[in-house]
Amino acid sequence: MGAMSWSILKLLMLQGLFISPPLPQKENESNEFDFFYLVLQWPGAYCDTKRACCYPTSGKPDADFGIHGLWPNYNDGSWPSNCDPDSEFDKSQISDLVDSLKKKWPTLACPSNDGFKFWEYEWGKHGTCSESVLNQHDYFENSLKLRDRVNLLQVLTNSGIKPDDGFYDLEEITNAIKDAIGFTPGIECNKDPERNNQLHQIYICVDTSGTELIECPILPRRRCPSQLQFAKF
Ligand code: AMP
Ligand code: AMP
Repeated sequence: MGAMSWSILKLLMLQGLFISPPLPQKENESNEFDFFYLVLQWPGAYCDTKRACCYPTSGKPDADFGIHGLWPNYNDGSWPSNCDPDSEFDKSQISDLVDSLKKKWPTLACPSNDGFKFWEYEWGKHGTCSESVLNQHDYFENSLKLRDRVNLLQVLTNSGIKPDDGFYDLEEITNAIKDAIGFTPGIECNKDPERNNQLHQIYICVDTSGTELIECPILPRRRCPSQLQFAKF
């Protein structure tokens, strides 16, 4: 091949590199979902059911609300899940958060384990649906920050609502949280082996950036009766 045709070839290759048609882009990346639920869990209620729970290998978690997950949702009450099977959970990306995650996002699944399974599950099912906003590290970091900001147990005990197996008014619980954080939470119950309804999870709404609390566009459908137990742990 002569020098001339070489340069033409190179030119064509460069053209291919620099003026290739733009890749298709997802439209409106930050609007793949409408808001997040930060779902906080009372460990006493997760454990006080017919199904067993197992403490993590690091020991019994603190008697405090743990994170269940940060769940992208749509305003109509539906939600996306398992959005990116190719996005592999990478332990090394959250190595700086592991100590906090063990305290604040404790696993209670059996058999007893170190927690990575639960975090990997939540990332795969929920976190991959907000990946355009929060990468894996920030998904976990923001969840931890939001949990600390809300400080639920403190808020409830300040209003005389304690995990002492006593029964409390749903309205009192809701109002205590609303007064403290400025927004109405969703309250979810489960049943203990005696069929008592107990405080299990609290849903708090967060904007699509994963940083600011907001009024819930829609509250989760699972409800509680007007009186519910706050289980010891
Ligand atoms: P449930 O049937 O309410 O106990 O929910 C079982 C699972 O469904 C949860 O652990 C979540 O992974 C998922 N789920 C339920 N409600 C929502 C929601 N509003 N947003 C995202 N995931 C949800
Ligand atoms: P959902 O599908 O998150 O996102 O969560 C439902 C699944 O998470 C169920 O298999 C639950 O048993 C499990 N789960 C809920 N809370 C915990 C917890 N504290 N530790 C481990 N697994 C949990």
